[in-house]
Amino acid sequence: MTVLGDRLANLSTSNKHIPCPMAKLLKSLDQETAVALIDVMSKEEIPTRTIHQELHNAGIPIARESIQMFRKNSCACASEDKCNINEITDGGTK
Ligand SMILES: [Zn+2]
Repeated sequence: MTVLGDRLANLSTSNKHIPCPMAKLLKSLDQETAVALIDVMSKEEIPTRTIHQELHNAGIPIARESIQMFRKNSCACASEDKCNINEITDGGTK
């Protein structure tokens, strides 16, 4: 394998398991806030720009694209059990 080929192979492998920015954000929030954010993102009538604005107002510098990708299930980790956020919505009862 060429050096480039090797790098590209490692790139795709490592990216697959890296949580997307939205998943990272959700895990950094307290559970109540994270659940509220997941809830609002599931409401189609709420525009992404509104959520983006609210997050920025709270000092969270996430890209609008990151929110959009997450909502469309097209983020880097969408196939990974929806960014592994089930553990958040499960309610920390474990
Ligand atoms: Zn994700």
